[in-house]
Amino acid sequence: LIDVSDLRKAFRRRHGGEQVVAVAGVDLHVTAGEFFVLLGPSGCGKTTLLRCLGGLEDPDQGLVTLAGRTVYSSAGGINLPPEKRRASMLFQSYALWPHMSVFDNVAYPLRSLKVAKAELRQRVTAALETVQCDSLAQQYPSEISGGQQQRVALARALVANHKVVLFDEPLSNVDAKVRAQLRQELREIQRRVGFAAVYVTHDQDEALELADRIAVLREGRIEQLGTGREVYQRPRSPYVARFLGSVN
Ligand code: ATP
Repeated sequence: LIDVSDLRKAFRRRHGGEQVVAVAGVDLHVTAGEFFVLLGPSGCGKTTLLRCLGGLEDPDQGLVTLAGRTVYSSAGGINLPPEKRRASMLFQSYALWPHMSVFDNVAYPLRSLKVAKAELRQRVTAALETVQCDSLAQQYPSEISGGQQQRVALARALVANHKVVLFDEPLSNVDAKVRAQLRQELREIQRRVGFAAVYVTHDQDEALELADRIAVLREGRIEQLGTGREVYQRPRSPYVARFLGSVN
């Protein structure tokens, strides 16, 4: 469902001018309905890779196909903007609009799609029910808890019914107890709804709990790819072993 080939992205440092290679030639294939985790320490390129998939960062080179459509191709001169990629994104900060009600926040992605009013109401209500926040529809973001805000942000990501949802450490701003609960719920919702998830985290436990497969990144490359059990029990290198806290 998601195909990435030879994806590359370098940044030029503002001072000094040397290049920082953030994504150094990544190939990956994510199947429909799969929960795929990008794992690694700070600076290994997880966020940049995800942003290249979502269209928030322009890669230097490579090919990205999402749900059967080429959204980026350096050879083909294709680079679709984020809103044309039919992928939803969910970040660390909830980024709900403070001046809009919960209902209007969740409805927002549908307004630009010109969805009819009755269908819009039905879809927003269904998305809020999925995250168990239907009773909060008329509240404003400042009136609900951090965990609830992140549920609402998830509803907004789901309302467009895209087959691909991209997550960048979405639970790192909520406290530990709520995080564990939301993690479990997120996995249940993902299974039920059936979208493919690409999920960035530096948290090994989170990766092991959520992932069908994990790609461990090192300096912009995939160091190891496998199920949680595979990478945990048979780390390919001391780097992976150290990072997962497992033995090699
Ligand atoms: P973290 O978990 O800390 O967010 P990460 O694994 O997601 O780390 P990236 O944020 O993708 O890593 O960064 C990869 C490398 O690219 C780092 O060396 C970072 O400093 C660099 N980088 C990222 N964004 C930029 C930018 N806009 N300008 C310059 N360098 C950048």
